[in-house]
Amino acid sequence: MPDSTRKGILSCSGCNSPDGCRHDPSKRRENSLDWFIAEALRGHYVGMTSTYAFQSFNAYNLQMSMNASELGPGPMPFAHFVVKVASRCNIKCTYCYVYEQADRTWITQPRRMSDAIELATIARIGEYLAELGNQQALVILHGGEPLLYGAQRIERFAERLRAECGRRGVDAKLALQTNGTMVDDAWLDVFDRNGIHVGLSLDGPPDVHDAKRRDKVGAGTYERTAEGLRRLLSSTGDRGSPPAVTAVIDPAARPRDVVEHFLGLGVEHVDFQLPDVNHDSYPHAQWPLGTFGAWLIELYEELRRIDRPMRVRSIELLVGLLLGAPYGGDILGPRSFGTLVIDTDGDYHAHDALKATFDGATITGASVLNEPIRSLVTHPMVLAHTDKATAASADCLECPLFSVCGGGLVAHRYSASRQYDNRSVYCTDLAMFIRHVEDALTQWRGDRIDAVSAGASVATR
Ligand code: SF4
Repeated sequence: MPDSTRKGILSCSGCNSPDGCRHDPSKRRENSLDWFIAEALRGHYVGMTSTYAFQSFNAYNLQMSMNASELGPGPMPFAHFVVKVASRCNIKCTYCYVYEQADRTWITQPRRMSDAIELATIARIGEYLAELGNQQALVILHGGEPLLYGAQRIERFAERLRAECGRRGVDAKLALQTNGTMVDDAWLDVFDRNGIHVGLSLDGPPDVHDAKRRDKVGAGTYERTAEGLRRLLSSTGDRGSPPAVTAVIDPAARPRDVVEHFLGLGVEHVDFQLPDVNHDSYPHAQWPLGTFGAWLIELYEELRRIDRPMRVRSIELLVGLLLGAPYGGDILGPRSFGTLVIDTDGDYHAHDALKATFDGATITGASVLNEPIRSLVTHPMVLAHTDKATAASADCLECPLFSVCGGGLVAHRYSASRQYDNRSVYCTDLAMFIRHVEDALTQWRGDRIDAVSAGASVATR
């Protein structure tokens, strides 16, 4: 890495001093590497102001609030509950893993969760959290498009969840992931009244977003989504909860353009996601191996260059893991807190992205009607995400990067011939990205990192 870049990491935008700004602290670059480190280690993005941040750092919060000896080496508990209140969508994204890829389970699922299943779902979550001992969790209303459940039902869900949590003395925050096209002032009132953290899916500038995120007659949805986002952002002051954006990476778009677009809209929290493809579906002619690694590195360097803060989940997770955090997330790290999906019929499902692999890949055979949530903690497809060594390939287990990479997202390891017994289809990309960020951390690990990390050590492999 050139020395000029090193100077930029810790300096303000004005004086470029390697010791930080000596002139005006307000000029300090909040995207500096030590900002990432400090935020990663602070670990209490929780408490907190956005769905994304809550999701990505809920694990740290739980880690801090749980008695570590209770956790021990056993299965990791669930911290996220993805509740599918609506099993249809009002738009038709080309890459949607629920409706447009291998899985067909949605066809037989109720369009909406029934009142009885909603009550049973909330009771199971409350029961599980009480068994865990009052640990915090995040309940994410999902779909399809969760707003199709209707404002009254969502408000009722929020009220019931609050009542259940109050009755049991547990704490579950409520979030919602929407495509944004239906968000109007009435919805903002619902979100505000019920403290619902909102995440919104937007892939970038109009041409990038509209290439994949289209409605049912093939028209782009950018303008409707962006309008929903503007409404959410304009009301953030009242709600104190800026929306987080989930963006599927289109490598044809330059990271700089995407970042500038999001910052122009006022977005500060982004979860950039790799497309949900696997060894059987990866389009090698279109995306040569390394395409996404190069994109992520360019994103990382862009975030270090700009003077405005933007938080990116994958980078924060990676920095935390490189600094020795014991838990990552579904996309990185060998262990993570669990995510349980509960569908409109009350069935428990494993990680949603598996729907892109084969029909029925997420089915557990259990339901809120006949099984407590604790019985799912040791389900093989849950363990494959919470303790990735249980299902990782021999290549990954022997890989020197496994303690950080964890083999990536399980769904990205799939092939019909070997199931999940593969490296990630993004192996080249993940290794490029990890090594690049590790190099940056290594260069700055001296006194400054020691001071910030308060004893945490940079992982050396
Ligand atoms: S996916 Fe690749 S980089 Fe990641 S652990 Fe497996 S072999 Fe290593």
